Amino acid sequence: MKLRYIFITIVLSGCLFPMFVFAQDMAYPIEGDGILSFLRRWNRIDTSYVREFKELNIDRINAQGGLELGTAYLIPPLHPGDVYPAPEVIDQPTERKIFGNKYKDFAIVSDNLKDACFYIISGHGGPDPGATTRVNGHELHEDEYNYDFSLRLARNLMMQGAAVYMVIQDEYDGIRDERYLANNNGETCWGEPIPKSQIDRLKQRVEKVNDLYAGDKDKFKYVFAVEVHIDSRNPKKQIDLFLYYADNPQSRLTSYTLRDEVLKQYKKHQPNRGFSGNVSYRNLYILRELNPPAIMVEVGNFQNTRDRLRILDPNNRQAIANWMTNAFVEDYKRVTE
Ligand SMILES: [Zn+2]
Repeated sequence: MKLRYIFITIVLSGCLFPMFVFAQDMAYPIEGDGILSFLRRWNRIDTSYVREFKELNIDRINAQGGLELGTAYLIPPLHPGDVYPAPEVIDQPTERKIFGNKYKDFAIVSDNLKDACFYIISGHGGPDPGATTRVNGHELHEDEYNYDFSLRLARNLMMQGAAVYMVIQDEYDGIRDERYLANNNGETCWGEPIPKSQIDRLKQRVEKVNDLYAGDKDKFKYVFAVEVHIDSRNPKKQIDLFLYYADNPQSRLTSYTLRDEVLKQYKKHQPNRGFSGNVSYRNLYILRELNPPAIMVEVGNFQNTRDRLRILDPNNRQAIANWMTNAFVEDYKRVTE
């Protein structure tokens, strides 16, 4: 009897002790769980959590690499910047699958933009490629790069808690970590085919955004439309970033905040090169006709070799989207505080 008692004590302490030490960081999987879905429930979204999970649970993962019901698993600690539980999000008007397989899963990292709504309009699309250029035998179309920038910006803004409409959508292209983006004309304007004639095309997106804005303007503290372009001008001219604002004070003030923030980032990350960010009013159809405050961004000159180096580099496209996101967070504070 005594022997049996001792045996049970050892077994119990052997399994309870680690349970006790890590009690808060362990959880049981639910029916149908794989490692990814298990981690997602704990808002561990980044793929590096999978590696950490496997290291922590090397003895608990079954022979097929899966999870066993009734076994408790250690949850990897949160990385800096990640939080659990995930901040509550408003109904997101844009489905995440638009970002493509590699980018569709992401954590909401803050509520910095929780009362903000953005209409991101990727310039051109459908039958209209925008500016074109040739690099190393590749014919490159502006609309594909506008779209990649737009997706990166939209995703970033969502991560900060904003509601975001990707007004121009392409169900086949997510975020592409490539230099040469293949061309297609499958883009739609919020599901509608994009017409051929320029004026119909612009009208279509303006009307769509104005419709949406009528329903959104009282729901949010901060609403903004951003149209994304790449400029096309004399190849000698390096332009970095141009911002055009509509004829209202919100658009103007926001474009100056954006310029100042992006300028700050350039100084920090590329101190040795000047930045020729330019802000001006321009009487463009789209800016004139949109009801929400609106700006147009021109990210570099497609014909300039140095601007193009940065447009073609996916890391740079992401960096510019990140800087613009920081800038919107700053501007949101300015407007709402
Ligand atoms: Zn354009």
